[in-house]
Amino acid sequence: MTGFFYRINYLYKVEIAKKKRDIRAFTKEQLRTFFETNGDQPFRGNQVYEWLWQKSAHTFEDMTNLSKKTREMLHDNFVINHIKVDQMQRSSDGTIKNAVRLHDDLIVESVLIPTKTRTTACVSSQVGCSLDCKFCATSRLKRMRNLNPDEIYDQVVAIDNESRLYFDRPLSNIVFMGMGEPLMNYNNVLKAIDKITSPEGLGMSPKRITVSTSGVPKMIRKMADEEVKFKLAVSLHSAIDEIRTSIMPFNATFTLKDLREALEYWYQKTKSRITYEYVVWDGINDSQKDVDALVQFCRFAPSKVNLIEYNPIDDGEFQQASNKAIERYVATLERNGITVTVRRSRGKDIDAACGQLANKS
Ligand code: SAH
Repeated sequence: MTGFFYRINYLYKVEIAKKKRDIRAFTKEQLRTFFETNGDQPFRGNQVYEWLWQKSAHTFEDMTNLSKKTREMLHDNFVINHIKVDQMQRSSDGTIKNAVRLHDDLIVESVLIPTKTRTTACVSSQVGCSLDCKFCATSRLKRMRNLNPDEIYDQVVAIDNESRLYFDRPLSNIVFMGMGEPLMNYNNVLKAIDKITSPEGLGMSPKRITVSTSGVPKMIRKMADEEVKFKLAVSLHSAIDEIRTSIMPFNATFTLKDLREALEYWYQKTKSRITYEYVVWDGINDSQKDVDALVQFCRFAPSKVNLIEYNPIDDGEFQQASNKAIERYVATLERNGITVTVRRSRGKDIDAACGQLANKS
């Protein structure tokens, strides 16, 4: 009989544990209501909210201005699914790559990129990616799930801490250029940005945040309608449908015409310049015809082109174009009044550069 009761008790506890909810899915108002309905003061909700976001508490025990009883009550009802930086690798150029373990043991990666004056965090928005860009290592991992807002937020906090520790300054910029397609996890990315920019979170300026997309027209329009204040970057790589579809097959569905119209709409609404990320590959998009198509594509809205160095991911189907081809891009774009920069990759020796994030280590 005793054994029977033990078992019932155990099963009951397992059930309760399963029912514990992720506390960071709750708004401040909901936390206030929780305390009120549990016979406590609503302002406890504010205190807990501050611990969760501004102070980034990992456990309820960290919340030292709450009584033991309150902390126990939180413990009985909720969990904090904080990320863990499992492994940190440092590149010879100062770049740091974090392998981040999520509460369900899945792993994503984020990167700290230092320059003389800035520290940029490159964060992931999904575990794996559902897109199929032929040149990107992440596309080889199938999409497992979207990241929650708190999991995106935690990556930023981890990099901010590392920046303070190793570079003696706070994080200055964030780019959503890690694993995944941010616009396919739109709601959670926007909620994370809300927390990052809120004075109740990290209080960062949205102007220091860039969301990079392969180009999902419907979501670009939605962002424009919501008049978001962060910057937009588009991974273009070709302004000719046939070529773009051959290297980014989803372009067959989200065609360049749809993308261009959505970007035009974005610019009308936000007046915010669009950045294009563009890799020039040997024999793929390195002819004058390719450059001319890009110039045409950039005409309808103020644009900037970042020519990114290619980071080889495997057997050589793709090769970086010659310097001559890149110079031709630069000269033609400049002649047409389009800002262009040539970006060298960072963190290549630890597989932390663009397109190399694939949970290899
Ligand atoms: N899915 C989003 C966010 C990922 S950003 C997007 O596509 O924008 C990652 C950036 O690195 C993109 O601009 C992508 O096109 C680029 N990239 C992917 N693989 C690369 C590689 N092997 N070398 C250089 N850049 C790469």
